[in-house]
Amino acid sequence: MSQISTVLQDLKETLPEDCTLIAVSKTKPSSDIEIAYETGHRDFGENKVQELTQKAENLPKDIKWHMIGHLQRNKVKYIAPFVHLIHGVDSLKLLKEINKQGTKNDRVINCLLQIHIAEEETKFGLDTNEMREIISEEVLNEMKNVRIVGLMGMATNTDNTEQVAKEFSNLKSLFEEIKETDHTQLSVNTLSMGMSGDYKIAIEEGSNMVRIGSAIFGSRN
Ligand SMILES: *Cc1c(COP(=O)(O)O)cnc(C)c1O
Repeated sequence: MSQISTVLQDLKETLPEDCTLIAVSKTKPSSDIEIAYETGHRDFGENKVQELTQKAENLPKDIKWHMIGHLQRNKVKYIAPFVHLIHGVDSLKLLKEINKQGTKNDRVINCLLQIHIAEEETKFGLDTNEMREIISEEVLNEMKNVRIVGLMGMATNTDNTEQVAKEFSNLKSLFEEIKETDHTQLSVNTLSMGMSGDYKIAIEEGSNMVRIGSAIFGSRN
């Protein structure tokens, strides 16, 4: 068996049953995805629209594609017909564009709101007030073609595991808060947090979706 399938299967055995694994295949060739696909894996994550659409075109149609990177509004149209879940919704303007493209494609597009939990300035995401604004009644009533299914966050890239745990735990609290919000455009059940270096901490803090790349496919250039 290839390295990728062995690692993938071992990894799956260590994850809780209710935790979805997104195999992050960015920069990796389609042949790597095919190997993972052969083991029965279906959820793959990409962070660039062009790479995502090219891979989606050439690979089996039952793959669930996750857009995990920063998404520009003018590129939503390319993934709107098929994307399974958009993880990085970090502005109302972007959500509106996703809604518009969802309408054009006659589908309801599942989204996660990306929350800024890290110390680093550079990581995208909403703050708590911006999040609350987006999940307000007035905003959501205009969004018939999106469904917000949860939250996504990236912790600070640090060896300080206490800090990482704290950041994930903050996100988990927000998740619990918005779970209580009732609206047809909300169906909150997904907490996407944890990557190769910190997924174990993320799971301890309540993650039910991890996005793992290098630990499966090897390091990227
Ligand atoms: C690249 C990426 C990952 C995976 O990172 P690894 O450290 O390779 O597991 C997860 N989430 C996002 C948003 C990414 O861009």
